[in-house]
Amino acid sequence: MIRITNVKLPLDHNEAQLEQEILTTLAIGKKQLIDFTVFRRGFDARSKNKITLLYTIDVTVDNEAALLEKHSNNQNVRVTPDMTYKYVAKAPENLTERPVVVGFGPCGIFVGLVLAEMGYKPIILDRGKEVRERTKDTFGFWRNRTLNTESNVQFGEGGAGTFSDGKLYTQINDKKHYGRKVLRDFVDAGAPEEILYVSKPHIGTFKLVGMVEKMRAKIIELGGEIRFNSRVDDLHIEDGQITGLTLSDGQQIKSKHIALATGHSARDTFEMLYKKGVYIEAKAFSIGFRIEHNQSAIDEVLFGKNAGNPILGAADYKLVHHCKNGRAVYSFCMCPGGTVVAATSEENRVVTNGMSQYSRNERNANSAIVVGIDPNDYPSDSPLAGIELQRELESAAYVLGGENYDAPGQLVGDYLEGKSSSKLGKVEPSYKPGVKLTDLTKILPDYCREAIQEAIPAFNRKIRGFALKDAMLTGVETRTSSPVSIKRGDDYQSVNTKGLYPAGEGAGYAGGIMSAAIDGIRIAEAMALAINEENQ
Ligand code: FAD
Repeated sequence: MIRITNVKLPLDHNEAQLEQEILTTLAIGKKQLIDFTVFRRGFDARSKNKITLLYTIDVTVDNEAALLEKHSNNQNVRVTPDMTYKYVAKAPENLTERPVVVGFGPCGIFVGLVLAEMGYKPIILDRGKEVRERTKDTFGFWRNRTLNTESNVQFGEGGAGTFSDGKLYTQINDKKHYGRKVLRDFVDAGAPEEILYVSKPHIGTFKLVGMVEKMRAKIIELGGEIRFNSRVDDLHIEDGQITGLTLSDGQQIKSKHIALATGHSARDTFEMLYKKGVYIEAKAFSIGFRIEHNQSAIDEVLFGKNAGNPILGAADYKLVHHCKNGRAVYSFCMCPGGTVVAATSEENRVVTNGMSQYSRNERNANSAIVVGIDPNDYPSDSPLAGIELQRELESAAYVLGGENYDAPGQLVGDYLEGKSSSKLGKVEPSYKPGVKLTDLTKILPDYCREAIQEAIPAFNRKIRGFALKDAMLTGVETRTSSPVSIKRGDDYQSVNTKGLYPAGEGAGYAGGIMSAAIDGIRIAEAMALAINEENQ
């Protein structure tokens, strides 16, 4: 097959125009063209009233080799790369000990799935509940303020991304096309086919719930085992080699190969690892607030007369500003047509995040507006000092919100002027259970307030209306990425604990659903190869 990149057509083009563009690019007649499929479709909206669609197309033709030769000087015409996933190993017949995976978020799911597909029958443990039960607990907390610390937005089947916008794009280097396997497996589990070709695929919360169930069923069918309500409280380490673990109910499991994919909120687990001497470092992350605007206003500014076009969907944005005080402020995890959610996993703390449904048709656009911080900003030199800072901020937000899990909120205009808010404007905050209007200017360290107060007007120069007086801020946003990094070597094993495979976002090796899932595939491969080497 031939891959043609950079095919540009107007937003309202028809199917015949696409075919004509292929014929023109390849300089062939209709007869030579056998078939074509869209590999990727994105758009360029820099000129909002003249939006262009950008295609990458895979084309089947007669005389492919001759045509490739003819166009060898054209960078946009190349042979289609083989993106099929190839398993690196197969489980030995005499496999005595099963590999264990801790955590069933996107990373753990893919460690488990790929190990199961290769025949290793993994045991997968998650501290939370299966996804339907977890959904009840999570939505229950948003409705009636009763938090289950083991079953919430962060913990339980599907991991942190289950109640999310389900954005499925990543900027990581993926030379081996593992992302393609992830997307295909998602489609097999019920995700919409379009995630395979749109440039910024997303799934939304309810579809994710069903997909997670199907992936669980597949792993079990392949001989894997998944245990919920199974929190890992201790690791057994002998002479620098992992030998097993203990669960919260006292049960022990032996294994010399354990993947640790616990996500960024497993603070008790990080503390346990530190106490056991597993090598951990403090890591940079970001803190700030959620900002909400009316989605229709964002659509209008970014898409002009094309706002509402179904191909474009609800508009998103990505902003960054480098401040005079040396800090960078950026938008993060933008959720078009979504809601702000209560994302704490600990009692008496408030944390914001964002989610949406597949349709992205809620009234507000939200994103985190965060400031990058690093270990120099933390309260101590401990590798766990980032967690300490997160806890301080989340507790302060709880108090400022009225100590009932409402989020403290402030209108953007008031935040910029440094005065407390007392009345909502045109943007109604979506955070549940509720928002208490207050003054957010003192909750973050001063350098963050300064940076955000400088950045919002700067963002307004890029998106008119961004600094709208009535836009809403709620907070705090502290779980942007892991506050620790659990270092691993080239063999994907902890640098000082053999057989322990730190994985995914919690270990500092991913920052989203796709990158966590891709890391999961890498970890599964490393575990399989190490097991086979031992069994030789
Ligand atoms: P997690 O998904 O955090 O999974 C870790 C799992 O480990 C959990 O299920 C937890 O219960 C379990 N666990 C923890 N400790 C233990 C223990 N001791 N024993 C047993 N089990 C344990 N990313 C995107 O790419 N797109 C988005 O749109 C997006 N939206 C988000 C919205 C929200 C509300 C949140 C919270 C996150 C969002 N993210 C999004 C981030 C994304 O969810 C994470 O990057 C991703 O889930 C990380 O995957 P992971 O498998 O490494 O960890």
